[in-house]
Amino acid sequence: MASSTESAVAFSDADTRRDEMHSTIEAWIDDLVDHVDDAQASDQFQEWLDVQSRFHDYSHRNTLLIKLQCPEATKVAGYHTWRTEFDRHVEEGEQAIWIWAPIITTRCPECKNAPSYHDQSDCEYDETPPEEWAEGLVGFKPTAVFDISQTEGEPLPELETAATGDADELVPALTDAADALDVTVRIVDAGEWEHGDARGVCKYRQQDCQPLVENVIDGTHASSPCSCSRHLNSIFTAF
Ligand SMILES: [Zn+2]
Repeated sequence: MASSTESAVAFSDADTRRDEMHSTIEAWIDDLVDHVDDAQASDQFQEWLDVQSRFHDYSHRNTLLIKLQCPEATKVAGYHTWRTEFDRHVEEGEQAIWIWAPIITTRCPECKNAPSYHDQSDCEYDETPPEEWAEGLVGFKPTAVFDISQTEGEPLPELETAATGDADELVPALTDAADALDVTVRIVDAGEWEHGDARGVCKYRQQDCQPLVENVIDGTHASSPCSCSRHLNSIFTAF
């Protein structure tokens, strides 16, 4: 397995850059897939799961790439995104982490290609002009990102998710919010709590796929959001 030092690469030759990027990234992925297949319970696989858990919004392909190039990465963004959105800048000499970024553009309803590729293909679709085609995914391109550890500047904004106060106030607020979201809340005694250290869980009812939030209430303060991926709203849970 290549170490992060060995895999640090620069695509400097403008003529061959694009092809080199594609083949290098694909080779890395093949290499990683081999390793994962060989030993799913290996340390490397566990490390990858760890990275995956930090980048759950990223594709598996991209988390593999991040793990390979910068195993300690926690938050990545493009060079300009760090600067313009977070007031941070990439430190001099830092190597980019290369991942795949989707290319979204107008595409032919028939062959699903961008207009230029549609023109070059055998596709004969001509019912609507390219200006009227809807946008969609036409491919991926290598894109450079940097981990927060490679940047310096302003601290990142923190998302405030803690809710503190009396259970007498928090529980009605929780149930009101749950009603508004059509979520069922079940309050259980601390002794019946089956979810270890978790302060709240989100489940789907089997029949109609509605989320069910369980909470354990035994104290006077509350914190922690329920982060259900299908319900973006944070619901505080008392514990
Ligand atoms: Zn077409």
